Amino acid sequence: MNIVLLGSPASGKGTQAEILCQKFDLFHLSTGDVARNLAETDPRIKEIVTSGKLIPPEEMTMHVLDFLEKQKTDLKDILFEGFPRFVSQYEALDNFLKSKGDDLDIVISLEVPMEVAVKRISSRWMCSKCGEIYNTETKPSEKSGICDKCGSPLIQREDDKPDSVKTRFDYYVKNTKELIDYVDGKGKLTRVNGDRSIDEIAKDLENIVREASKNDHN
Ligand code: AMP
Repeated sequence: MNIVLLGSPASGKGTQAEILCQKFDLFHLSTGDVARNLAETDPRIKEIVTSGKLIPPEEMTMHVLDFLEKQKTDLKDILFEGFPRFVSQYEALDNFLKSKGDDLDIVISLEVPMEVAVKRISSRWMCSKCGEIYNTETKPSEKSGICDKCGSPLIQREDDKPDSVKTRFDYYVKNTKELIDYVDGKGKLTRVNGDRSIDEIAKDLENIVREASKNDHN
C-alpha cells in the first residue's frame, strides 16, 4: 500500500507520518528531508528551501525518482510525505509506479488554517545534529534546548521563521489546490482536520489506512 500524506507547513504531517510509519511498518519518504539534504551541498537549493519557496516541480520529481531507484527498489509500502505537490508530480510518480506494476493507493490531505500553522511553527525546534524534531507545546525535549537522542543543541529551522512560514503556506495553498481537486476527481482523496490533538488525528488516520488496506487486499 502506497500512501501520500499532503499538508501545509505545520499541518502536523511530519509527526503523523512518523506515527503511521511505525504503526503500519511503512517506508517514510519525506521530500522536505530530501530537499534539506540536497541543500547541504547545493547553495541554490539551500536558498530555495530556506526562503520557503518550492524546488521546480520537475527537478524535485527527478530527485524523488532517483531516490526511489537507489533506496527503495521494491516500491512497496511507502508513505510519501510532501510529495507530490503538483499535478505534474502526481502524474510522474503515478506513471513511474505503474510502470513497475505498483500504484498510489490513497492521498490524505491534512488541513489547518494559516494562523494555526504560524502559531505552531513558533514552538517547533530541531536538533542541529540528527534532525530530530521537538515542539515546546506538544513534544518538549527532556532538557530544555538539548536533543534527547544525541545531546546536541536544538535550533529553529530557517524556513520555520514566521515570514518563511507565510510564504510556504501561500505556495502550498496556491500550488496544491489544483492537485487536491485532481486527486479528489479520481476518488482517492481523504481530507482530515489537522486542527486537533495529535492522538485524535492519529486515530483517524489509522482508521483511514486500515479501511484502505482492506480494499487493497480484496
Ligand atoms: P516540507 O518539509 O515538506 O515543508 O518541505 C520543505 C521544503 O522542501 C519546501 O519548502 C521545498 O523547498 C522543498 N520541497 C519538499 N517537497 C517538495 C515538492 N514536492 N516539490 C518542490 N519542492 C519541495
